[in-house]
Amino acid sequence: MRLPLQWKVLAGYLVVAGVGLGIAGWLALEVFETRDLKHIEAGLIAESRLAAELFAAPLGRAQPDLREIDMLADRLGEAVKARVTVIASDGKVLGDSYESGDALLRMENHLSRPEVRDALTAGIGLSIRLSSTVGIRMLNAAVPVRSPVPESRVLGVVRLALPLTQIEEQHGALRNALALALALAFILSFVLSFLIARSVTRPLAEMAEAAKRMLGGMFHPRIRPQSNDEVSDLGHALNQMAASIEDKIESLKEDRAKMAATLIAMQEGVMVLAHDGTLRLLNPAMERMIGRHGAELTDRSYWEVIRQPRLNEFIAQALAGGNGAATEIGLGPAPVRTFQVYASSLAEGRDSGAGVVLVFHDITDLRRLEQVRKDFVANVSHELRTPLTAIKGYVEALRDDPKVDLQQRQRFLEIIETHADRLNLIITDLLLLSKIESGQIPMKQEPVELAPLFDRTLALLSHHIHRKQHKIVLNVSRLQGRLLGDEERLGQVFFNLLDNAIKYTPDQGTITIGAAEKEATIEITIEDTGIGIPPKDLPRIFERFYRVDKARSRELGGTGLGLAIVKHLVEAHRGTVLVESSGKGSRFMIAFPIALDTDPAASSTTRNAG
Ligand code: ADP
Repeated sequence: MRLPLQWKVLAGYLVVAGVGLGIAGWLALEVFETRDLKHIEAGLIAESRLAAELFAAPLGRAQPDLREIDMLADRLGEAVKARVTVIASDGKVLGDSYESGDALLRMENHLSRPEVRDALTAGIGLSIRLSSTVGIRMLNAAVPVRSPVPESRVLGVVRLALPLTQIEEQHGALRNALALALALAFILSFVLSFLIARSVTRPLAEMAEAAKRMLGGMFHPRIRPQSNDEVSDLGHALNQMAASIEDKIESLKEDRAKMAATLIAMQEGVMVLAHDGTLRLLNPAMERMIGRHGAELTDRSYWEVIRQPRLNEFIAQALAGGNGAATEIGLGPAPVRTFQVYASSLAEGRDSGAGVVLVFHDITDLRRLEQVRKDFVANVSHELRTPLTAIKGYVEALRDDPKVDLQQRQRFLEIIETHADRLNLIITDLLLLSKIESGQIPMKQEPVELAPLFDRTLALLSHHIHRKQHKIVLNVSRLQGRLLGDEERLGQVFFNLLDNAIKYTPDQGTITIGAAEKEATIEITIEDTGIGIPPKDLPRIFERFYRVDKARSRELGGTGLGLAIVKHLVEAHRGTVLVESSGKGSRFMIAFPIALDTDPAASSTTRNAG
């Protein structure tokens, strides 16, 4: 059972006060009663002695007069308010203040009474006992009655008896008074000890209350110590503790917020695992990587979430104490992404049972770029080697065979020139690409009118258009300077796209050019009715040297760099280029952001060429 401290302190005080007061009362009562009894005894003895002197004469007569003796006993009894009994030496009762007449004569022999015997043998007798005559407890004092000196013969015994009820009544009153005094003292000590106990326990209860509040994270209001003692010291100490905990919580919160912000901002996926492999934390990047929400995974084991045997093995090793380990792993549904995974122990050298933090760094783009670079080097070498081999072959043929006729020599030299031109074209395109990429070509920001620009570009290609009898549909809105850019470079973009459209569209096809404002962009489309691009090649045709059909491209004089240049130039204008093809025909779409400081106006021109 839980007993409040106040009641414990109170009970302690009360036990001490009760026992102390009880002992003191008992001792006082003992002393009072004993002294009182002694006093009464002494008085009774003295009165007995006096009575013995008075009875000496009547008893000393040769024939004692029993009536006289009894009357004297009655008178004396009346005077001293006690029973007076006169007994002869042989024990016969001669007079008694309580009895007279026949009753007196019938009284039994009193020699058996202890006080009478003591009076005869020792000169004085005292006893407290139940009187057989009157049936109550009496204090008896007996002394011998002697004949006058010198004879001093024992004539009998006179006994004075006081009913004890009288004494007990007096003692009862004394006890009652004492009990009342003790009860008052006890009540007073109860009240006092209650107040004292409360003055000690109340501040303690307040502190316990404050401590509970602090446990729940409420550090205010603080404790206000009232007194100047150990209890108030405790209050001050608790206040200091609260302030220090509050500070620590604040700084922990700050650290936590910083950590959360860092984790949110990180591009790398972060996964924290407890020592038993249960998930403790996933940052948003990690959630995106595994396509699940952290909250639904917390406290699940990592192998329930990650189903990649190699990664699971790596995590198991990290949990077993492999600190600072790193590995490269492909994850996710197709297209698989490549991650560099770092594991580091949370133990910081304490023990290996604290769990691990795993950082997933997405290196797919890095690996892809590496691959692109390798492919590029291989492609460049290959592209350069083909015309060089041809040039070398024809030069050797000319050198080794001086008898080659003039016409054949002319044809060889033309082939050499074509391949040299091709080499030149490739190198020019490569240099251009590399310059665009490294930002060496400054892009002007001037209003570009699309209709005249397309006219000029189509004029450059008119020879091919006529040869293949293509129909050109020009559907270009007048954008009145809404497009800002570098006219020469944009001309190159359109030239490359139109050149491709002409190249990959059979005779009598249609090439449609469109340009219009669409929401916040200017969208330009170049569409043909040509051979189209297979869907599998669509994502790659903007890569350098990528061609759907290498032989055909080369035959048509392509370098495989045209679309790569288009993409880079468009992006340098903060635009985007997309391609669509559905088996027959291709559609290239370029979108440029609108120059906002110009007014919109539109007019449309449609023209046929062919
Ligand atoms: P190329 O010099 O070979 O034309 P590009 O980079 O300009 O190189 O084009 C890459 C490849 O994309 C071409 O080889 C061709 O296979 C395909 N391509 C480009 N434009 C078209 C088009 N309009 N129709 C069909 N295929 C095209």
